Amino acid sequence: MPDITQTIVEEALAYGRAFTEKGKPAQYIPYLSQVNRDLLGLSIQTTDGRRFSAGDCRVPFTVQSIAKVVALALALRDRGERYLFSGRVGLEPTGDPFNSIIRLETDKKPYNPFINAGAIAVVGAIKGRSGAEKFRRLLAYFRRLCGSDTIDLCQEAYVSERETGDKNRALAYHLKATRMLEGDVTEDLDVYFRMCSLFVTAEDIAHLALVLANRGVDPASGEQLMEEAHARIIRALMLTCGMYDGSGEFAVKVGYPAKSGVGGGIAATLVDRMGIGVFGPALDARGNSAAGIAVMEYLSKAMDIRLF
Ligand code: GLU
Repeated sequence: MPDITQTIVEEALAYGRAFTEKGKPAQYIPYLSQVNRDLLGLSIQTTDGRRFSAGDCRVPFTVQSIAKVVALALALRDRGERYLFSGRVGLEPTGDPFNSIIRLETDKKPYNPFINAGAIAVVGAIKGRSGAEKFRRLLAYFRRLCGSDTIDLCQEAYVSERETGDKNRALAYHLKATRMLEGDVTEDLDVYFRMCSLFVTAEDIAHLALVLANRGVDPASGEQLMEEAHARIIRALMLTCGMYDGSGEFAVKVGYPAKSGVGGGIAATLVDRMGIGVFGPALDARGNSAAGIAVMEYLSKAMDIRLF
């Protein structure tokens, strides 16, 4: 299995560059529609402490759905596997778009924690006396998992997200009506909007993926940031549900667990080896970074790291 080198990282970025024109930034959130689609950055961090970067790996972008990974990790820590997966959210892929409401009517429990309905249910399970306290706890954990204590809200994205979030409101109120969400819906929604609007870089999400790859331990500090069993659950869900309704194709073409966000980020995790973070805001029809997928495909072939 060829090892990662700076040359491979730069070649992957050069290969991905042609794909920035093959999509466009998310249009349904006004803030995102303004982002420069030519940006492209890549960061790779290995479990034995090496770091490789190329391109716009320090340019901040909104984390969007990749935050669902952190929310899930915190809810698992707060409530445990049994509580979360027996009553709140399932473990199955849907094949539906990320914000779909259709199955909630018949199945009540959202299919998995990475569709919007599932992530909102997961936020509902995070401990805290108020939305503000939940968000404080989530942000603190987010910073530790990303290895950066400066991560914060992008206020403009948050406002934009909140103003256009009616579909998410519909999902949340539906969950409330069926008692899958028990707290204050407006506060849980606000936590959801805020967590999607956090500003991160490709380096930050590579670090998050690295902790997952390293079975929950931050290799830099040696600290166990999440239980090994929880890291395994999250990696499995990333593989089956992490790329929206493109997860199956991604597993075939790329072949390792990854989570994307409509901000253009993709965090991918290779157990015992490395975390990969990519940022390219032009999205394909399913809401995944077009250039980001191309970069991941290149890396997968160059290092022969497909699981299958
Ligand atoms: N904030 C976005 C939404 O709720 C996140 C979606 C995503 O990245 O998939 O629509």
